[in-house]
Amino acid sequence: MSRYNLEGKVALVTGAASGIGEGCARWLAQAGAAVGIADLNLAGAQQVAASIAAEGGRALGVAMDVANEDAVNAGIQHTVDVFGSIDILVSNAGIQIVHPIEEFTFNEWRRVQSIHLDGAFLTTQAAIRHMYSSGRGGAIIYTGSVHSHLASKLKSAYVAAKHGLLGLARTVAKEGAQRGVRAYVVCPGFVRTPLVDKQIPEQAKTLGLSEEEVIRQVMLKDTVDGQFTTIDEVAEVVTFLASFPGNALTGQSFVVSHGWFMQ
Ligand code: NAD
Repeated sequence: MSRYNLEGKVALVTGAASGIGEGCARWLAQAGAAVGIADLNLAGAQQVAASIAAEGGRALGVAMDVANEDAVNAGIQHTVDVFGSIDILVSNAGIQIVHPIEEFTFNEWRRVQSIHLDGAFLTTQAAIRHMYSSGRGGAIIYTGSVHSHLASKLKSAYVAAKHGLLGLARTVAKEGAQRGVRAYVVCPGFVRTPLVDKQIPEQAKTLGLSEEEVIRQVMLKDTVDGQFTTIDEVAEVVTFLASFPGNALTGQSFVVSHGWFMQ
C-alpha cells in the first residue's frame, strides 16, 4: 500500500526497462498511476509492464528511442491513446561513457548528449503539449545526478549533460507555472544498476585501482555512511514529487545521495 496517491494519473517513464527507471515505474504504479514503460529495449519494457500488471497495476510497454523525435512523439501519443492523458513524465533514460577528455570521440560525446539532453528536450516537448492542451497540467521529473552539481574525472560528456538538465528544468518550471506544469531534477548518488556495474571495472582499469578501491575510494568516499543509494530511495523521491501539488518546489533539484554533496 503506497503512502502516495496518484489514482487517475498517467505517467510515462523513459529508460524504464532497467534500474532507476524501472523502480520509478513500479513506485508510480503502486501509487495508482497508469504507467507507460518506455525504453529502447521493448522486450524489457514489456516484461516490466507485465510484472506491474501481475501485481494489479496498469502499465504498458512502449518502444522508444528518446533521441529520435518521431519515436518519442509516437510513443507518447500511444500512451495518451491507451490511458487517456499524460500527467507525469520521468525523463530518465541515460548512458555513461567514461574516458579522459582527450580520448573521447566526437561520436561518443554526441551519443551522450543525444540520449540525455535531446531525449529530455524531445520527451518534454511532446508531453508538455499534451499537459497544456488537456488543461490538467502535470509534473516533469528529470533524472539528473550528483554530477548535475559536481565535476568528475573521466565523465566530461555526462557531467556536461547532467548540468544541462538543471537549466532545462528551471526553464520548464518558469514557462509551465501558469499552466500547471512543474519541473524537478532528482540527483542520485551512485546506485547499483547495470550502468554503474559496467563503470566499476572500466574505472578500475583507467585509474589503476582494484574494483573494491573504486567503490570505496571513488564512488562512496564522500557519503556519510559508505552506502550506495538504492533504487527505492530514488523512486520514492520521484513519486513524492509527482504527487506534490502546487509550485512551492518547482524548478529545484533534489540530491539523493547519502550525504554526498550537500547543497
Ligand atoms: P540502466 O542502464 O539500468 O537503465 C537505463 C535504461 O535506459 C536502460 O533500460 C536502457 O535500455 C535505456 N536507454 C538507453 N538509451 C536509451 C534510449 N536512447 N532511448 C530509450 N531508452 C534508452 O541505468 P540507470 O543507472 O538506471 O540510469 C538511469 C538514469 O539514472 C540515467 O539517466 C543515469 O544517468 C541516471 N543516474 C544513474 C546513477 C547510478 O548510479 N546508477 C546515478 C545518477 C544518475
